Amino acid sequence: MKIEHYPITIIGAGPAGAATALKLDRLGIPCILVDKATFPRDKVCGDGISHRVVDILKRWIDPAIVERFAAAQNIQLDSWGLLVEGTKNNRLDIGYLTYYNKQTDISPGFVCKRWEFDNFLVQEVKNNSLIKFYDNTEIVDFQKNTEGWLINSKNNKLVIQTQLLIVADGAQSRFARLFGGITLDPKHYMASVKAYYKGVSGFHKDNFLEFYFLKNFLPGYFWIFPLPNGEANVGIAIVSEEVSKRKLNLKKCLAEVIETTPKFKARFENAELISEVQGFGLPLGSKKRQLSGDNYLLVGDAASLIDPLTGEGIANAILSGAVAAEQAVQCLKQNDFSATILRGYDERIYRMRGQEFKMSYRLQKWFKSPLFFNTLIWIISKNKPLARTFAYVFNDTHLKKQLLQPSWWWKVLRNKHAV
Ligand SMILES: Cc1cc2nc3c(=O)[nH]c(=O)nc-3n(C[C@H](O)[C@H](O)[C@H](O)COP(=O)(O)OP(=O)(O)OC[C@H]3O[C@@H](n4cnc5c(N)ncnc54)[C@H](O)[C@@H]3O)c2cc1C
Repeated sequence: MKIEHYPITIIGAGPAGAATALKLDRLGIPCILVDKATFPRDKVCGDGISHRVVDILKRWIDPAIVERFAAAQNIQLDSWGLLVEGTKNNRLDIGYLTYYNKQTDISPGFVCKRWEFDNFLVQEVKNNSLIKFYDNTEIVDFQKNTEGWLINSKNNKLVIQTQLLIVADGAQSRFARLFGGITLDPKHYMASVKAYYKGVSGFHKDNFLEFYFLKNFLPGYFWIFPLPNGEANVGIAIVSEEVSKRKLNLKKCLAEVIETTPKFKARFENAELISEVQGFGLPLGSKKRQLSGDNYLLVGDAASLIDPLTGEGIANAILSGAVAAEQAVQCLKQNDFSATILRGYDERIYRMRGQEFKMSYRLQKWFKSPLFFNTLIWIISKNKPLARTFAYVFNDTHLKKQLLQPSWWWKVLRNKHAV
């Protein structure tokens, strides 16, 4: 049995693993990247590639990747903002940019099926000689030894001895469960289902992402995201604890929302369901976890880094991959892969995202109240600058922090917005 020796090995080539490999490549460090799937492959997701994903790819990985993605108009749809609707049909349409020209500006965000987006990133990976990529290779065995980890794939197809294992194998990470002590906590986990439709009508002309907060479904939401070729990604998500408390069947809930809400019924009148309705979990960042240990780091969903309010996880998957790559460089320089040095990765991640996770979690709890939610929408709709800033409530730490301060509300209510 031939053993490959590589200092750095990444398991999983979704956004987290691909970003880690691409960042290492840009830093001049070789690595092995392994995925059990053959790409393109599907991933249950809303397919929203937010402006934050675009920003992080540009700033942390490589702006040229964003340019190539923006040019790939056959696989993605440009998306210029979002709309949020409360339980009383009170709705906010908010562009990400104050002024924009769709003919000349690069779109701040996109919608793209993960089948395409993840494959796009994997093609980027394949264009880099420092990354040795193995697809169709499932890692099934992990053994800790003095040099690091010896990992083995199904049928002994590939055996790797590595000093640093970067674990990017997603929400159901076996490694995170077995060695990272990460367990599913229903308070910090979202359940969701999604489906693809064709022929849904009534989209915003600038392809806004649509979020609907429904009275019987708070603090969860229903979404409709437009896709290329007249298709749409449609789904619902809610905290898992609520699913068990209320004994919800999410597939039924999705069908009921579409069939019994008059405005959705009208928009889906000529629509056709073109996929299965698929469910999948979202590990949220609201609970602080240990993200590293001797000779390993967890990134992306394996590290539970999804925003507790919005369910957005691709941006943090890419960011954590980039930070993990920088941490790997430090380890290589010092020839030290111990838990002590790797703790620096946890500290950086929570320094960058910890506050935001806390605030999103608090807001997620407040959003259980239709009164709170509708009042918030009403106040914001009366205040244009505030409305624009609210576009970032799903992404912006600064605004979330303000939403939690009584003094800010006082100023807003007196129409002296403090944004
Ligand atoms: C219904 C739903 C809607 C969502 N909507 C959005 C959205 O609109 N926008 C957004 O930003 N986020 C969204 N998310 C979250 C987003 O999907 C995740 O945060 C993101 O996919 C995390 O990327 P990742 O690379 O960590 O994991 P993944 O994308 O899951 O990739 C993990 C990879 O590891 C591979 N793998 C697993 N086990 C092994 C193994 N043993 N050996 C080798 N390879 C292995 C898999 O094949 C896979 O390719 C949504 C999630 C769900 C469930």
